[in-house]
Parts: sequence; structure tokens; C-alpha cells
Amino acid sequence: MRGGSLDIFLDLVRIDSPTRREAEVCSWCAAALTELGFTVEIDDSASITGSDTGNLIATLPGVQCDATLILSAHLDCVDPCTGVIPSVEDGVVRSEGPTVLGADDKAGITAILVAVARTVGSAGPRPNLMVILTTAEEAGLAGAKALPPHAFDGDVCLVLDAAGDPGSIVVGAPTHYTFAARFLGVAAHAGIAPEKGCSALEMAAQAVCAMQLGRIDEHTTANIGRIEGGTATNVIPALATITGECRSLVRSRAEEVRAAMDRAMRTAAEAVGGIVEIEWSLEYEGFVVAEDSSELKLVSEACRDAGFNPTTFTTGGGSDGNIFAAAGVPTFVMGCGMQDAHSINEHIAIQDIDGVAGIVSAVIARMAKG
Ligand SMILES: [Zn+2]
Repeated sequence: MRGGSLDIFLDLVRIDSPTRREAEVCSWCAAALTELGFTVEIDDSASITGSDTGNLIATLPGVQCDATLILSAHLDCVDPCTGVIPSVEDGVVRSEGPTVLGADDKAGITAILVAVARTVGSAGPRPNLMVILTTAEEAGLAGAKALPPHAFDGDVCLVLDAAGDPGSIVVGAPTHYTFAARFLGVAAHAGIAPEKGCSALEMAAQAVCAMQLGRIDEHTTANIGRIEGGTATNVIPALATITGECRSLVRSRAEEVRAAMDRAMRTAAEAVGGIVEIEWSLEYEGFVVAEDSSELKLVSEACRDAGFNPTTFTTGGGSDGNIFAAAGVPTFVMGCGMQDAHSINEHIAIQDIDGVAGIVSAVIARMAKG
């Protein structure tokens, strides 16, 4: 690893790392962290996630400090992300071709590497550091979900993976349920013997109409994402499928909305005379950090130390942060300055990466003080 944050970032975005093909960028990071004195482990998650590598877990013992800081980011990028050609103009990096830039989440990886390199290069106390770079975050947090238990052995976790300026801190994310439902009716000729049929599409339609969707309350959302069914205009449809989801920052509300959606589907199937099979999945648990938490105070003060105004907010989306928080680690998902992520207009100002690295360094310094 050579050069400053811009060089590191450009090196990283030039390495292809679509979801489940993170091996090359993982080796690059492993080499950089080894050079900095970390012990690097690649966990056994590849067989679970289907990636060509496990998650990277790198540890460095602290100096005169027992606390452990986890710094995490993800290795994969959303498509289209192969053959990225970065260009730099006025301190802003974009991708020249028809790809995303990959600042999501290579800006986060860069900020971590720059901050830990600075720490290793300076004398004085520091906390135990654990750098965790995950695979397949963009595929439902698959890598983080497969981390071994010792990956959660930290006192504070910073996940460097949010939109928003340096200093923005995600302090809450929802519990997220998804479902796939199959309505089963009876096929019959629509003109000759409709009495013999039972329409699966009618069940699905009634179910969707009975659901409360969109933003249900301040903390809660629900959606039907896809509906499919039927074969021909003259056939009563025997099968219809729908997929959907609900999310809430309030755990009990997520359960209530899940139950209401489930009930709407079962009631509709019964009313039309068919049956429904519903498969629910808990994608991840939500978290909300208490406003008076000492860890939030520490991270906010560190933002100020680095010259940024801390701004806390909650999000409707999930991240690896949900997995660390669910494991009981006080977790903050930090704004990294990435703009228009998940689009080919994605870009980032290099000074924002430096700013986030400064915040990470300040968190390290504050934890070292105890
Ligand atoms: Zn991301």
C-alpha cells in the first residue's frame, strides 16, 4: 500500500469486486493490513455465501488500552462495476465508463486503511483494533451474517458505509422482514366452466388491496414488490405469487405489520376458496442507539475533534451495522461522503475520504484515552 488516500482509493476501485467475486480486492487489503502489522484471518464463510473468498478479519493488539474498536466496510460493489476507469477532476473522483465508481464501499475501506496506517505510525496508547471487511453485503448482508462469533468481540463498531457527509452518524436502522407467497386455486375454462375454477389472481389482488402499504407511520414501511400469475385469458389462474416486505425501527411495529400482511393474505385466500403458502424471512434485526449512550458521545466528540459537526439520523435501509448491533456491539454507521451510490453517476470528493479517516483516527485517539 503506497501513497495517500487518493492513491489507495484509485488502486481499490480499479480492482473488480462484484458481489461474491471479492477475492482479488480481499488479497490486496490483506497484504496492506499485514504490512501495517495486523494479523489477518480469512474466515470460513465462503461456503455459506458462495463468494470466492471469506470475510477478512484483521487484528492488531492495543497499546496500554484494553478496549477494542471494530472498523468495518464491505468489499463488494453493485453492478455494473467491472472495469472501472476512475477520473479525477477538482478533487472529485468519478467513473469515466458505464460503471459505478465503487466508492460504496471502497471509500470506507480507504478511510479505514488511512486511519490505521496513521495510528500504527504514531507512538502512544491505542485500543485493540479489529478491521472487518465483508463479502456480499449487497446480497442481503450475506458475508456479515456468516461472520464467526469472535468478530463481534468489540466495545464500539464503526461501519464505514453510509451516504452523507463526514460527521453524519446513522444511529438507527429498521428490522426488516420479507415474504414470498403462493396462492393456490383451481384452473378451469373461463368461458365453459368458470364455476369449477378458483382464481389465485383474485386471492392475490384482494390480499394486496387489504394491506396498508407505503409509509405506514413515522418508523414503519411496507411494500408489495412483485405480483405474477395466470397463463391465458381463457383460463382461471391456478397460481399467483407475490413478494413483499415490511420494515420498522420499532421492533413491535415490524411484528404487527408482518402479522397484518400475513392475515390479509390468509383471509383473501379463504374468501375466494383457495389456499396460500407464505414464507417469511427476517432479513435483519433493527437497532436504535440511545441518545444518551456513552459510545455515541465518544463518536460525536471525535467528529468535533476532526472538525466536523456530528449529525445523527435513522435510516430505512439496512447495512452490516444491523448485524454488529444485533450481536450486542454499540454500532454506528458513518457517512463517508459517497454521492449517488448505486448509480453510474456515483462520485466522491477525496477530501471527504480524508475527513472520514480523520474521524476514525479521532475515535481511536479518544478510546485510547479511556
Ligand atoms: Zn455499501
